[in-house]
Amino acid sequence: FQLVSLSGRQGYGLVCDRLLSNLDGPCIDVKNPATGALVARVPKATAQDTHEAVQAAERAWPEWKARTAADRSRVLDAWFDLIQANSVRIAETMVLEQGKPLAEATAEVTYAANFVKFYAEEATRLYGEVIPSAAGDRRNLVVREPVGVCAAITPWNFPAAMVTRKAAPALAAGCTMVIKPSELTPLTALLLVQLAREAGVPAGALNIVVGDASDIGPVLTGSPVVRMLSFTGSTRVGQLLMEQCAPTVKKLGLELGGNAPFIVFDDADLDAAVEGAIASKFRNAGQTCVCANRLFVQSTVYDDFAKRLALRVAQLKPGFGMEPSVTQGPLINEAAREKALAHIADAVAKGAMVSVGGKAVAGPGYFLEPTVLLNVTADMQCMREETFGPVAPLVSFDTEQQAIDLANATEFGLASYFYSQDIARCFRVAEAIESGMVGVNTGLISSEVVPFGGVKQSGIGREGSRHGLDEYTELKYVCFGGL
Ligand code: ADP
Repeated sequence: FQLVSLSGRQGYGLVCDRLLSNLDGPCIDVKNPATGALVARVPKATAQDTHEAVQAAERAWPEWKARTAADRSRVLDAWFDLIQANSVRIAETMVLEQGKPLAEATAEVTYAANFVKFYAEEATRLYGEVIPSAAGDRRNLVVREPVGVCAAITPWNFPAAMVTRKAAPALAAGCTMVIKPSELTPLTALLLVQLAREAGVPAGALNIVVGDASDIGPVLTGSPVVRMLSFTGSTRVGQLLMEQCAPTVKKLGLELGGNAPFIVFDDADLDAAVEGAIASKFRNAGQTCVCANRLFVQSTVYDDFAKRLALRVAQLKPGFGMEPSVTQGPLINEAAREKALAHIADAVAKGAMVSVGGKAVAGPGYFLEPTVLLNVTADMQCMREETFGPVAPLVSFDTEQQAIDLANATEFGLASYFYSQDIARCFRVAEAIESGMVGVNTGLISSEVVPFGGVKQSGIGREGSRHGLDEYTELKYVCFGGL
């Protein structure tokens, strides 16, 4: 790609085992959501390019799979080192194409790099089993083998971490991969794949295709060569991809939408709960799938919590992420901003009150004032759907059971959070909540060492931790008879 707005930087094209460099043909225009300015043009990959990337991954697989675990681990370590060495460049690229403030982008680069480090280590621990046999003349071995060629489709909200969270365990397990990053934020992904190549990931083992989902998606899902698809994005697209993968019976890893409850009980440390709510709700301007979407506050502390949260939210500063004082980036595009504004309008029409914010920020970019809504009720749109924006709706509840029922009244089950100082309640509520992840007295739960994933319509499988490797391996049982 060519970076348009940063002078003196060299462009490069799509990486598979060849480069696409024709900037005169069809291109993806990458725009800065804080200003609307063109950041870069990336030549569009076609269905044929995607097919070639799959073939390159297929050709590269036998050699990559045959390497020792220690060798794959060393290559991943070298990739980790290069990501660290280029962290400023990657973070700045992310600010430009995605909009998050530089401090958040820098933290994401560390998070992204940590997946590579973690799976460099896990690569050497793909242990099998010997299972005691029911018959004296038999021995049962179980080995873990790489699935084969994998595909990854990643979203725009974490342009670096969603790439490494899939690519690092795939490569560690001995799989090869074709990545389709979001067309809104392809530059960070391109940089990461280029660094992987420089680190020694062989040509064809890690490929990236940037283009229209409608051209690329069907090739990846329809190919019998692709044995596994890992997708992070909306539930709607996840359902579609699942359907498209059915004829070839692919293994699937799906990280889909959430609708996270954030419960504040009357025995909570309210200052900690406010900070947790800020971290969970307003990180990435509310555009994470684990963002608190529904805040339930016990009636006895509702007013107090609402007041403290409003004061804190009023301090948040929207703006272009390269400016040091900015804490809130823009939304990714106009459609995202309109959705959040529609949720606010719907809530107000049904009786909610805007305590802070509530409006679009005038001027260029897709900025929305960080918002707190009071007197929110279950019938409002913001309670049923992910807002994916900086809007915190506060609902009052009376009893613990009510809070649990409200929290579970959704078809989603990704993250949930609650604040309480009562240890017995902490265990009770953590066990009663239907979600793949629970934050107790914390608003930040993600890390490379823990299993990230959801229940219900929030997805299938786990990413991160040693369990994340399972997605990219198959168990092979070998029975030795006649001994
Ligand atoms: P979001 O709502 O977060 O933008 P999406 O599910 O629309 O999430 O997008 C996540 C990823 O899925 C992006 O890389 C996007 O290009 C891709 N995508 C969207 N629609 C399709 C599709 N029909 N087939 C394959 N990929 C798709």
